Parts: sequence; structure tokens; C-alpha cells
Amino acid sequence: MTILGIETSCDETAAAVVTSDPKTKKLSVISSVISSSLPLHATTGGIIPEIAAREQVKYIQPVILRALSILGDNLSTAMSKVDAIAVTYGPGLIGSLLVGVETARTLAFLSQKPIIPVNHLFGHIYANWLKPQRAQGKERSGDEKNKHYALNAKPYTEIHFPVLALVVSGGHTDLVLMKSHEDIKVIGGTRDDAAGEAFDKIGRLLNIPYPAGQMIASLAERGDPKAFILPRPMIGSQDFDFSFSGLKTSVMNLARTQKWNFSDPLYAEKNSQLLSDICASVQYTIINVLTKKTIKAAKTHQVRSIILGGGVAANTMLNLTLKQMIEELLPKTSFFVPEKELCTDNAAMIAAAGFFHDKNVPWQNVTCDPELYYNLT
Ligand code: AMP
Ligand code: ZN
Repeated sequence: MTILGIETSCDETAAAVVTSDPKTKKLSVISSVISSSLPLHATTGGIIPEIAAREQVKYIQPVILRALSILGDNLSTAMSKVDAIAVTYGPGLIGSLLVGVETARTLAFLSQKPIIPVNHLFGHIYANWLKPQRAQGKERSGDEKNKHYALNAKPYTEIHFPVLALVVSGGHTDLVLMKSHEDIKVIGGTRDDAAGEAFDKIGRLLNIPYPAGQMIASLAERGDPKAFILPRPMIGSQDFDFSFSGLKTSVMNLARTQKWNFSDPLYAEKNSQLLSDICASVQYTIINVLTKKTIKAAKTHQVRSIILGGGVAANTMLNLTLKQMIEELLPKTSFFVPEKELCTDNAAMIAAAGFFHDKNVPWQNVTCDPELYYNLT
């Protein structure tokens, strides 16, 4: 089976072709194209929905055509080899979602192919079912390659149920218990800011461009994670919920009392070690809360696999810390994390979710749901 995935829930315009092996049912990404309007939002501290949607209108057709070119020279030849179109219908920005959904509807009508509407959050979870990808002629540098293999040293194996998924993105921090592909339940979530949101909001206080997560992680490499003892609300609570807004407020108070001014280039140059120490402490605190709650939930529900998903899953220290804790505390539990390229928004993960939630809907009935949560209907 071959699925064309389409993803436009936020600032990315993405399309991908994913196939399943008829015998093993394992999924392979055969093409994945992503265009992002992120550079246009970097200076404003967040996505501007209007600009994101306008860019997506420009890029959706070329992105889909490029992803499909692996199947044939023209649209009709390529679409004749596609069995279904999986498209993100929520959650996300309404204008952005509309671009993907309307394009998928048109393509489905023209090619007479079914549509599988996909929940973006399931996409992040199902990125874990995709085989490591080497296509696209993109070679990594030596260091990056080594890091990558160190993290994913385990070969691709089956993910066994029950599964605990930690979805950590710019908008979500959720613990999801999957007893099967059909029995999926949210057992914990953030009460306020998501983990990625905490990275981004704290980044703004430190004059780090949006989205700040990746840069905070790289600055943290030279910093002392114990330099600042920051609050970890709900770390000891009986439930599996999270809260990160207190962390942001605490950094804000420190910035005020210690008169941090990283927007002044001279101050920033003189205090680069201070910035690294703040970043390391923030990263340490967020990872500490995420990993402790995940281990607790995994023990309680006796899961066989723990999987990570969402943009924050690209954080190397989070991966290493969770991997180490699982090896020490839950040696019988397997740990999975998608390739870095598949952690942040992409269309291959949407196609992957489409294989497991293959509810074909007539194109006329596919609509956007910006507020969608984890419903399975
Ligand atoms: P998503 O919402 O899934 O597209 O993920 C975007 C979020 O992931 C943003 O909040 C980023 O700051 C965050 N992010 C991306 N890379 C990293 C990283 N290496 N470490 C921490 N956060 C990250
Ligand atoms: Zn996402």
C-alpha cells in the first residue's frame, strides 16, 4: 500500500510518500519534502497565522508534486500509484489546516482516491513506526552521524503494546497510553504551558530567536545544569500531569532581579557563560520533570515500550537521559525515538498514522478541526 501524506497544521508545508511492505507491513518513507515559513516568523517570537497560511498557498502544489515525482513524471501517473491520501485535519491553525485539507479534497476528487483524515498528534506518535530513513541524498556530517547512531543504536524492531507515548511539542506535553492501535487513552498532560512552549517563552526572555528549543539545547552543552535551581511544579504529584508556567515565571523573576539584558550585544558577549548556565539549568529542569513522570507512568501501567514524539523529542539530552533511566529502572522496556527529521512536523508521520487509522472518508465530509484533541472517531 502507498499513501501520500499532506501536513500543513502550522508553519510547514509538507508532503511525503510512504509505502508498506506487503509481507512485513513495515513502513518506509520513499520521499519527504518540507518547506517551512519559520524564517519569516523568527524575529516576531511566534508564528503569524496569516503569513504562514499565505506561504502555504504558494508552496503546497510544488511540494506535493516534488514528493510525488518519485512515483512518476506527471501528476496522473504518480497518483495512479497512490492508494490513499492522508491529511492533517487538526489540531492547528485554521488557515493553515484549510490549505492542506482543501488541496487533499481536490486531489481526491480528481484522482478518485480515498482520504484518511489524520490527527496531527497521532502523527507525532506514529513517526516511531517509520523505518530509519536514508533517502533524499542528504548526507549528515560525521559528528551528527555518530550522535545519531549512538542514540538509535537499537536496530528497527517491532514496537510492542502496551506502549507509553510522551508527546512533547510546541503545543502539547502529553502522556498517552496505547494498549493497541484502537485502545488509546491520554493519561496525563500539561495544565498550562507545553514543554516546547516553555523553551520558546524562556528563549524570548534571553533574546534567543523563535523557536528557541534547539538553540537552548546547543547553548546548554557548555553550561552548568545545576547553576540555577529552578522550580519543578507537580514533580511529586500522584497524577501524570505537568506544569511548566512556573518555570517561565521563575526565569522571568531572575532576569528582573539579576538585571539580565541579553538583547544588548555587549552584555551578551561578556555574559556568554551565564547564558549557557541558564540554558543548561532550564533544559535540565524540563528534562527532569518529563523523564520522572514518564518513568512513573510506565511503571504504573507496566508498558513494554516507551516512545517519544514531537519537536522536543529532537532534544539529544532528553533522549539520552530517558534512554539511560529506562535501561536502569525498566530494563525490560524498549525505548524508541524517531529520526530527528521525523520529530519535527513532516508529512511522512501523517502518512504513517494513516496506515494504522485507515478510516476512509468521502472527500466531501473531510473538514478541519483546529481544536482537535486525541479523539479516535
Ligand atoms: P512541534 O510543535 O512538534 O513542531 O515542535 C516545535 C517545538 O519543538 C518548539 O517549541 C521548539 O522549540 C521545540 N524544539 C525543537 N527542537 C528542539 C530541541 N533540540 N530541544 C528542545 N526543544 C526543541
Ligand atoms: Zn507538531
